[in-house]
Amino acid sequence: MPRNDKQVRLWVEGQLRAAGLKVTPQRYAVLDYLWSNRTHPTAEEIEAAVNQRFPCASRATVYNTLHALHEAGLVQELYGQGGVTRYDIKVEPHHHFICRRCGLIEDVKVERLSVKARLPLQSGHRVEELDVVIRGLCAKCRKIAEG
Ligand SMILES: [Zn+2]
Ligand SMILES: [Zn+2]
Repeated sequence: MPRNDKQVRLWVEGQLRAAGLKVTPQRYAVLDYLWSNRTHPTAEEIEAAVNQRFPCASRATVYNTLHALHEAGLVQELYGQGGVTRYDIKVEPHHHFICRRCGLIEDVKVERLSVKARLPLQSGHRVEELDVVIRGLCAKCRKIAEG
């Protein structure tokens, strides 16, 4: 698990190479941003942040970069409130809780939700990944809703 800037740099570069992707400044900037911002940002938010470092990164470049990182399995796509796609770096596997009222997205640790052993799958299938999205009301919104 990387801790300081240098370790993050090495980790990001290692992940890109392991996925067979060249290390480009844009890919590095997107992964680095997602690494330090675990807020599940939208593509627009990522674009704004990356553009502070690379003022020439076009919207298409940022979207293509996110697509490539997603295809390579380094970034996870999530469908948040209103169908807006949100992005998350895949440092360690985790699930998500999404509040349907305020759109809050919270990470849920895998070890706190063990469902893998009980999956009702056809025999012969091999599970490689499991992403659970729990939708509902967060504590704050629940208070408001229940008065
Ligand atoms: Zn909420
Ligand atoms: Zn997450």
